[in-house]
Amino acid sequence: MDDAPEHNSLDTFTKAPAVHLEPDARPAESIRAASPGEQPPEGLRIDDLGPGGETEPHIRRALLGEPFDDPTAPGSVRCNACAHRCVLRPSRIGICGVRQNRGGWLYTLVYGKVVASKAEPIEKKPLYHFLPGSSAYSVATQGCNFHCEFCQNWEMSQAHREGLVPESRFVPPEDVVREAVAAGVRSIAYTYVEPTVFIEFALDTMVRARAAGLHNVFVSNGYQTPEAIELVAPYLDAINVDLKAASDSFYRRICGARWEPVRDTIVEMRRRGVWVELTTLIIPGLNDDRDELRAMAEWIATAVGPETPWHLTRFQPAYRLKSLQPTPASTLVDVAEIARAAGLRHVYVGNTPEVEVADTSCARCGERLISRGDYSVTGWWLREGRCPRCKHALAGVGLADSPVAV
Ligand code: SF4
Repeated sequence: MDDAPEHNSLDTFTKAPAVHLEPDARPAESIRAASPGEQPPEGLRIDDLGPGGETEPHIRRALLGEPFDDPTAPGSVRCNACAHRCVLRPSRIGICGVRQNRGGWLYTLVYGKVVASKAEPIEKKPLYHFLPGSSAYSVATQGCNFHCEFCQNWEMSQAHREGLVPESRFVPPEDVVREAVAAGVRSIAYTYVEPTVFIEFALDTMVRARAAGLHNVFVSNGYQTPEAIELVAPYLDAINVDLKAASDSFYRRICGARWEPVRDTIVEMRRRGVWVELTTLIIPGLNDDRDELRAMAEWIATAVGPETPWHLTRFQPAYRLKSLQPTPASTLVDVAEIARAAGLRHVYVGNTPEVEVADTSCARCGERLISRGDYSVTGWWLREGRCPRCKHALAGVGLADSPVAV
């Protein structure tokens, strides 16, 4: 445990003070908290606290950890990957369930431990103004820093809370890129769970993806720290942030988080030139207050820009909110109207076939520019990225060439 680690240029970690371990304590069960903050099994062996070996290639020393001075728990570290900034006593696991203090070091437990991977339309992320009509190779590990009670991917994101061990395969970054290239995609999407919790794996993949001519996309809850943004932004081309509400009480009650860091991430990503789209799942009785949604739309229009795409999606009963009804179509129509009245030019309604709004119109004159159906581009009227009628440039990335025959 005393060996000095090798640091590379991305390391931001400083080792915590030494921690004393019992060398011949009885063998432990697997080190996995069933719920955040739960004490790990007693009797950890010193071998259990070391780095991963050939049998555990997914356990690696993590980025964005720092020693935390807790006189009652020497060897504590703080994780600065997300805005929770968990302080982990020796052997404890963070709220996300996939980052652990092992012997005074912060470790990721899911490097390359892929639980889902597939090529799918970029429109499914959803990103409508970023390489429209292209495919993205989606990858995810387990774990998430939020515990949203309506999570659609809870078997992956909340596995550690639910005592599940999702099936996984070890896929190092170079193989993710190889699989993506073989699938003929134009980007890799880090998605399904919050990618910040597997930032080391994502970052190594992003660097290689860029070298292979691919773009990188995050589908994120936006709960990153400025330090995490600093690491990923240079390699990130687009982000869809799940803006769950614009109220701190919703974030605290339903997601176990806070609103301000999400707000700051959205603004900072935009400032750094990362293409930003936003998604809000409208949940009956929880975040469908019209005044709050109006305030959210006004905030988007002023802080992020009136041409920021905002995707409104229908809630379907899931996970711990199975007792709620799906969002009425009329609510989505209402909210879309409110958003347009607040100044937003690209408001989409998804997941609701009867009132779906998936086509893109010119922000200036209203001319139809792109039509979509079933997550694919079905019509394209842009001319070199501009409206054919008034010549206004559509906001987005990769809009010069049509992905469909016109
Ligand atoms: S990523 Fe967030 S939730 Fe996970 S250990 Fe770090 S600070 Fe805690």
